[in-house]
Amino acid sequence: MKLLRRNIWLLFFISFIATLVLLLVLAYSRWLGIQEHYGMRQLNLVEQWFGNLTAILVQQETIIDAVGQDIHHSDAVHGADVQQKLDGLFSLSPGFFAGFALTTPEGDLHKFSHNLKDAKVPKNLLQNELTRDSFQQALDSDFMVLGRTYNVPGVGLVMPARKAIRDDSGNAVDVMTAAIQLDNAGIFFTRGMTLGDFNRITLIRSRDLYPLYSVGDNADKEFYRSAVDKKEFNRLINQLAGNAGLSREALMQSEKAIPYRRYVTDGRDRVYGVAMYQPRYEFWVMSEISEHFYRNELYTTLLSYLSIFLIFQGVMFYLFRLIARTEWKRREDLLRQATHDELTGLPNRSYLMQTISEWVFRGQPFSLLFLDMDNFKGVNDNFGHRAGDRVLAELARRLQCCSHDTETPVRLAGDEFLILTPETDEEKLYQRAAGFLAQLKNDFIVGNLHFRLGASIGIARFPDDGDSLESLLRAADIAMYQAKKRKSSIQLFEPLFQEQYLSKLRIEQKLHHAIEQNEFFMVYQPQLDALGRLIGVEALLRWENCELGNVPPDQFIPVAEMSGLMADIGRFVSARALQEISRLQQDSGSRFRVSLNVSVSQFMTPDFLPDLLQQIDAAGLDHALVSLEITENLFIEDMDYVCGLLGEVHEQGIHLSLDDFGTGYSSLSVLRCLPLDELKIDKSFVENLTTDETASKLVQSIISIGSNHHLQVVAEGVETAEQLALLLDCGCQSFQGYHFARPLKIADLRNYLKDQRFL
Ligand code: C2E
Ligand code: CA
Ligand code: CA
Repeated sequence: MKLLRRNIWLLFFISFIATLVLLLVLAYSRWLGIQEHYGMRQLNLVEQWFGNLTAILVQQETIIDAVGQDIHHSDAVHGADVQQKLDGLFSLSPGFFAGFALTTPEGDLHKFSHNLKDAKVPKNLLQNELTRDSFQQALDSDFMVLGRTYNVPGVGLVMPARKAIRDDSGNAVDVMTAAIQLDNAGIFFTRGMTLGDFNRITLIRSRDLYPLYSVGDNADKEFYRSAVDKKEFNRLINQLAGNAGLSREALMQSEKAIPYRRYVTDGRDRVYGVAMYQPRYEFWVMSEISEHFYRNELYTTLLSYLSIFLIFQGVMFYLFRLIARTEWKRREDLLRQATHDELTGLPNRSYLMQTISEWVFRGQPFSLLFLDMDNFKGVNDNFGHRAGDRVLAELARRLQCCSHDTETPVRLAGDEFLILTPETDEEKLYQRAAGFLAQLKNDFIVGNLHFRLGASIGIARFPDDGDSLESLLRAADIAMYQAKKRKSSIQLFEPLFQEQYLSKLRIEQKLHHAIEQNEFFMVYQPQLDALGRLIGVEALLRWENCELGNVPPDQFIPVAEMSGLMADIGRFVSARALQEISRLQQDSGSRFRVSLNVSVSQFMTPDFLPDLLQQIDAAGLDHALVSLEITENLFIEDMDYVCGLLGEVHEQGIHLSLDDFGTGYSSLSVLRCLPLDELKIDKSFVENLTTDETASKLVQSIISIGSNHHLQVVAEGVETAEQLALLLDCGCQSFQGYHFARPLKIADLRNYLKDQRFL
């Protein structure tokens, strides 16, 4: 079935051949049918003719015989009485007979019916060429004899029937001739007894092969003047005998109608015929139809068959073409569905795979521009997937518009797109990527919503950056990740990224077991006020792995965030730090705040606050002694949720501190609506405080913002007395940095506290 579906035209061809064969079979059987039909009709016709003729002739013979005998036995053989008898005979069937004549055995005509009075009848039948033969025959025969058909002027065509009238000793005393009028008699023989114009019926005298009578053809006077070809006729009789399976003699006695075929007109025309012999009166009845007629009839039938065949084939062709087209379209659709993305109509990953495999196989250099929207997640989360879908469709449209003929934009997944290009020149690639980014700069409009979404592009080249789709996609993805760090930028893949990527991969693998292997521990960095008194500590996580050594949190925390490990790690940090600090405070009798760094994913875990409260209570710490350091990254998330949760945290009396302030993008209005207690000036500003004037201005403005909003301001990363002095000048009241203390293990912090008390 599958094969047939695939070869629909083969099926059509088979059906065409099958119907053609059927047509030929039908035509052939029709041909046989026509032959049989007309064969049977001719057979019946000849038998009818034979029967009718024989009956008429026997009847005439009886009458002639009776009248002849009557004349012979009457006394007045040569008187008016004879004339009367002949006229009486004539009046019995006028129209059938042209007349009656009585001749002496020597052939002299001595009496005839009065209607022959003006006719030019031969005076002596034995001396006339046309009549001699049959007259002699009648003298020799006991039966009635049919003579040659000839034209009698004034009478027309006549066929003579002669009978010798004998005396008691058998000697012929007279010969009676009845002339059958062919022009009229034909009606008696043939009434309704031909098949049509195409059918010819002939009576042939077997003795001399002259035609006696013929219908169906224009048999004129000339026709009766010549005999049929003796040789040819002989051949025909032999053929008839052969067809009947009889000898010639037996055939001529059998009174059987025998079908035959023969060629006429010098072998150019074939006729189908039936012949039957009348032995008493010695003539053949033959009916013939030309093959032309058969053929014409066949052609007419064939023509109608052919019309039906052509119409049928036309309809079939139309149907098959319809099926083939539908099938082709279905296959195209399936192929398109398999290789194209439904939402955007762009080619998809399978298409990319096929194309790239071909290009890689040909060794043709090319590049992949991996494009990822910077803020797409926000659209989906805040405005629903429908809005997201419309943004993606618009994005695809823009990419398509901007693409050159040789470039193919592809949708990989979600908001990840890719442009396949044969370009590999670094400078041109940057130009092309910039062109695409420029297209995306304009707002995306969905209904009455306007979205400004940047995108980042990572570029990987074949064969430099990978030799398979997988490796190239990874390279492009790594480059894109680098680009994303800078937001809306472009990055070509570099081998260094690969190393970073691999190191990240290694970190991730080890990180999975870090908690259970007890590889984490906490350090605490003191925070002091302007008078050098300890006001709090920031809890900082440390990881020591036997293979990787000490991995700085800057490296492993982003990996933990990406791989979903941060919630667990965060729980570990808060539990450990709260317990250690609580115990230290109990032991030392001092009170100071402990600040916990809270990452975005940790904050967004569903049970974040209940878990934290439970841990604080378990540690036995005052809520007021716990501070959470959050960053501006948190505000990219669902703001309603974030604000709500921060409010709850604040209500619990827990201190909230905004870390790395000044590096993010949050606006001042955000500050106003958030329940914050503290701002932390990022260490990058403090670092440049003494050298960079703008940094010092920024620090000043952060401090004034803090005081305006009644927020405590902590300067982070204070390393020198100079920095401290400047910060104090600016009005900063709290400090953290190496100038005071490095992050300390809990035991070291314990000592630090002791030292502080002694100072
Ligand atoms: P951060 O929250 O800004 O932490 C302050 C960082 O500055 C710490 O680096 C600290 O050691 C360093 N620092 C303190 N004083 C000075 C100084 O005078 N000069 C210099 N150059 N650096 C100073 P650290 O411990 O390597 O932590 C780096 C970052 O890792 C932190 O930045 C924080 O974002 C993250 N982090 C550390 N521990 C945790 C944690 O437990 N949870 C979370 N979520 N993040 C953590
Ligand atoms: Ca911090
Ligand atoms: Ca910080």
